Amino acid sequence: MKVLVLNSGSSTVKYQLIDTANGEPVIKGLVDKVGSIGATHTYSYNGEKKTEDVLARDHREAIGLVIKLIKDLGFEIDAVGHRVVHGGYKFFESVLINNEVIEYIREFGKLAPLHNPPNLTGILACREVLGDIPQVAVFDTAFHQTIPMENYLYAIPMKFYETYRVRRYGFHGTSHKYVMEKTAKELGLDLSKTNMITCHLGNGASIAAIKEGKSFDTSMGFTPLEGLIMGTRSGDIDVGAVLYIMDKEGMTTSDMDRLLNKESGILGITGISNDMRIVEEGYFKGDERMILALKMYCNRIRKYIGAYFFELRKVDAIVFTGGVGENSPIVRKLVLDGLEESVGIIIDDKKNEETIRGKFGVVSTPESKVKVVVTPTNEELAIAIETERVVKDYLKS
Ligand code: AMP
Repeated sequence: MKVLVLNSGSSTVKYQLIDTANGEPVIKGLVDKVGSIGATHTYSYNGEKKTEDVLARDHREAIGLVIKLIKDLGFEIDAVGHRVVHGGYKFFESVLINNEVIEYIREFGKLAPLHNPPNLTGILACREVLGDIPQVAVFDTAFHQTIPMENYLYAIPMKFYETYRVRRYGFHGTSHKYVMEKTAKELGLDLSKTNMITCHLGNGASIAAIKEGKSFDTSMGFTPLEGLIMGTRSGDIDVGAVLYIMDKEGMTTSDMDRLLNKESGILGITGISNDMRIVEEGYFKGDERMILALKMYCNRIRKYIGAYFFELRKVDAIVFTGGVGENSPIVRKLVLDGLEESVGIIIDDKKNEETIRGKFGVVSTPESKVKVVVTPTNEELAIAIETERVVKDYLKS
């Protein structure tokens, strides 16, 4: 099946046409600056990359361009899989899009005002351009809907949960689920009996505690701000400190939102960059600020892994994925160093150093009591696989 995987952002349309028979992208591209003068369409096909200036005054026009290119290159689209950030309390899994689903995605726009509205625009534009071709919504939150209430509620008056549905939702679900399944398959584990801690470390980052193949806890919360230190997000912070700074600086909620989401994290600590490659370079050169940033970053991950270890009681594998998780042996080493005696986790330094650039690998020694695994994520492929499954199930029913 040829699945068009779409990720519609506020001014971008990212896409891949994936052949699910081999999991490879046939065409992939990005329409950038949608809605402005100077929109461009960059795409790769057959090993060649091209960038064109285009007219994309809205998402409908941008998606029209993508579909025209696909057809001009001689391909048919069998189904469309949309990345949708928030599935609220309603969606436990991917669904075929109909009018009711569209209304829910619209409603959950209240919970993800930056993400769900452009995702929905993409869905509506596709409906207009592609007519009856089946479309599937794959939610970032869905995998975490199995988290029990004691782990998703915040200890604030219950009326805020009851009235506004303020609770932990968790994100990166498509990636956590994909690497969980892939790791279990590679290690020959029965998922229904397997516990894992999956660490998705990219520019955004989150950890999930997975119990018997289901999400049991996760570090991102009501929004993607909670939890780990990220490229530009603070992760956990005392809300008292936030209130104090707002008071001192006369800041509005949107000022603070920007500070915590865009100016904090690795960027905030280093004052220079949100890129872990720059931090690592500085760390090895002995730059004090970079050393501090890397220690803070790794210590937060270690804290969460420790907490999830106790929550799960038994852990079969700790999995690293995402741009940092897949490419940074020093991060993996600093996070899990020194646990040989207490927990029995032993890293094989050589394997750890060698497992980079999209390679799958077990980086712990055979004696290690918990397997430490690097499993490259592929969210687009995960969306394509989910889309095919949902469409096939629908055709069978
Ligand atoms: P992602 O959001 O998963 O695409 O991850 C992007 C981030 O991965 C970048 O901002 C970098 O910080 C990090 N990254 C990519 N390559 C490397 C590398 N070779 N070493 C360390 N970090 C990397």
